[in-house]
Amino acid sequence: MVLLLVLQLSTLSAQNPASAVYDRVILGGHVMDPASNLDTVRNIGLSGGRIAVMTARAIQGRDTIDARGFVVAPGFIDIHAHGQTPETYRYYALDGVTTALELELGTSDVAAWYRERNTGELINYGVSIGHIKVRMAVMHDAGTRMPVGDGAYRAATPGQIGEIAQRIETGLREGAVDIGAGFPYTPAATRDELLAVFRVAAKTKTPIHVHIRPGIAGLKEVLALAAETHAPLHVVHVNSVGLAETPALLDLIAAARARGQDVTTEAYPYDAGMTEIQSATIQDVYKNAPDERLAEVEWPPTGERLNRESFERYSRTGGPVVVHTNTEPMVVAAITSPLTIIASDAYWQDGMGHPRTTGTFARVLGRYVRPPSPNGRGGQGVRLMDAIRKMTLMPAQRLEPRVPAMRQKGRLRVGADADITIFDPATVLDRSTYREPSLPPVGIQHVIVNGVSVVANGQAVEGVAPGKAVRGATPR
Ligand SMILES: [Zn+2]
Repeated sequence: MVLLLVLQLSTLSAQNPASAVYDRVILGGHVMDPASNLDTVRNIGLSGGRIAVMTARAIQGRDTIDARGFVVAPGFIDIHAHGQTPETYRYYALDGVTTALELELGTSDVAAWYRERNTGELINYGVSIGHIKVRMAVMHDAGTRMPVGDGAYRAATPGQIGEIAQRIETGLREGAVDIGAGFPYTPAATRDELLAVFRVAAKTKTPIHVHIRPGIAGLKEVLALAAETHAPLHVVHVNSVGLAETPALLDLIAAARARGQDVTTEAYPYDAGMTEIQSATIQDVYKNAPDERLAEVEWPPTGERLNRESFERYSRTGGPVVVHTNTEPMVVAAITSPLTIIASDAYWQDGMGHPRTTGTFARVLGRYVRPPSPNGRGGQGVRLMDAIRKMTLMPAQRLEPRVPAMRQKGRLRVGADADITIFDPATVLDRSTYREPSLPPVGIQHVIVNGVSVVANGQAVEGVAPGKAVRGATPR
């Protein structure tokens, strides 16, 4: 009955904007929608968690947001968000993110993962069935977050490979958004094992999000696996796997797309990465490295650069490390490429993490889009509409063949989900640093999830949980 009334109300209001009263109206904002290329001042009325009207005429609501001077964009969709807790959802919301998906590491138990969040969260959330996590379970690895034993270093038997593939199919049936993988975290996985995983992706038409092995060789390996099996492929954080070779990797991805391969990629706007010191990605590279090389690694609690003695000491206790391996010109190449989706790779654990957790999207808007200010910041020439496209429409389109909910996200149009981010293009800027990674950005004024304000006047709203589960459709 209530639902019927809401439906009637929203139909009524869509036809009759002058007389309707909407749940919430956003007035006078500069509306930018990359799907339609709408780029003008409009009033937007929201009802029942959806966009009910977009009009140049005056409209009324029970709640009003004055958006004059601000940009009104679809809510940002982060397809690489490791932190999936109330604490990190709050950080993401303050950075303009309305949907945060953990698609690289993922989980080994999709049903349990969604069940843990079914009382509601601040923003929309979702997860992949993760090859790394499934392999840890099948190989009985003792690691808590990443493989540290057989999950990383022992080849699977044909029986174990079959079990890994089967568990991935189960995860997809339970609604996983897609399949995640990270070859450097599972160095003992053979080509046969990886092919088995890619065949599941191909059979179910599910994108497989892969943290590839470094450089051109790593990209060629994964492109060949995808070409052989016809699996849709998404290469995660091309900036941190490409380093100095990033432009060449982007060229190879463009060439594969031109040949008709379904391959996409993403990047984050920082020149240092972060991961667990006990993981194979760190141990394999730095275990025998000289002190000059170890100095690339930073221990965040103290800011010290590591040497042989401190590397071994912290490797025993475990914890995240910052790895300074990239350069700003390579990050610029990744962020300015029309191929890249913006995705944070947000990494947050026990109250600390990488500043990209709280600053990725504001950083792109403030430092790569906005022309240089007198203090010299900014100005990488990315058009604002293109930046918004990389944060909204492109991630939605990557996922929507398998994830029906994504067809109603990443766009501003009547009937779309009311996931909306309103920011000040003149001031938006990240503030978080490696020393102070939790500082929220400035200029992200209002963030709305399913019609409900989660950030108002730049402050997180307490006591609301409008975020919904984002799930993949059950494969046929
Ligand atoms: Zn990764």
